[in-house]
Amino acid sequence: MSITIPGGTTVVTRGECGLRAPRGRTAMSARDGSTIHYNGPKVNIARLLSNHELCYYFWRGTQNFHMDGRGWQDVAYTCGVCPHGVVFEGRWLHTRTAAQGTNTGNATSYAIYLFVGEGETPTADQMSAAWDVAAYLRARGGAGANIRPHRYWHSTACPGDNLTNWIAAGFNRPNGPINNTGDEVALTPEEHDLLVSIDQELKGVGEAFGAPRRPPLRELITLSINGGKRTRRILRAGLEHLGVPAKVLTDAAEAADKEND
Ligand SMILES: [Zn+2]
Ligand SMILES: [Zn+2]
Repeated sequence: MSITIPGGTTVVTRGECGLRAPRGRTAMSARDGSTIHYNGPKVNIARLLSNHELCYYFWRGTQNFHMDGRGWQDVAYTCGVCPHGVVFEGRWLHTRTAAQGTNTGNATSYAIYLFVGEGETPTADQMSAAWDVAAYLRARGGAGANIRPHRYWHSTACPGDNLTNWIAAGFNRPNGPINNTGDEVALTPEEHDLLVSIDQELKGVGEAFGAPRRPPLRELITLSINGGKRTRRILRAGLEHLGVPAKVLTDAAEAADKEND
């Protein structure tokens, strides 16, 4: 259930990529903005470009390294951007990162990680997708206006000279300005936020409905709207118990209640 954000960039959800659940998460407000990262060592970008399936594998491997090798709660980054110009959800919206090397950086800035290493050239599609997700993080994730190279926060080679020079030159979108009238967002922002919350935190609600695995968001919303008051009550209680914002569901359910009453 990938989504499309303005600019036409695809965002692959955690579930779709097969990421593990985080061990925990800390909420934050990215009031400063977003920080750009690269991999350091070469990723063999030519090999990744030969097969997009490898990008999924690469992103899962990054998470495994951060959780098992580093002992972190989750993959360190807010999101990853592959050379095909596809965004992969990491910690995603409103969640503190472990990527910036300083507490202030982690607590005030999102971390956008491009699958590219030292001496490798990021693709125009990749940079444009990074631009699109940075805009999305401002529009939907409360990010401030600043785009920082990782080396802004502390002494590091990251994100390499190519990306650092790009930021210094104004962080322009290589594929040109986006067509704001022609781009469709597949999910509403509220649906998407709910999807992210559910994807990250909701494990028990699917079981409450007797589903073997947690149901996809659209099914959940449809179930909530069509399932009657009792179903919605169970669902809302489940969401509340898990601390998941359920405003969309609540609004939709109340609207449905009014129609049915
Ligand atoms: Zn970095
Ligand atoms: Zn790819």
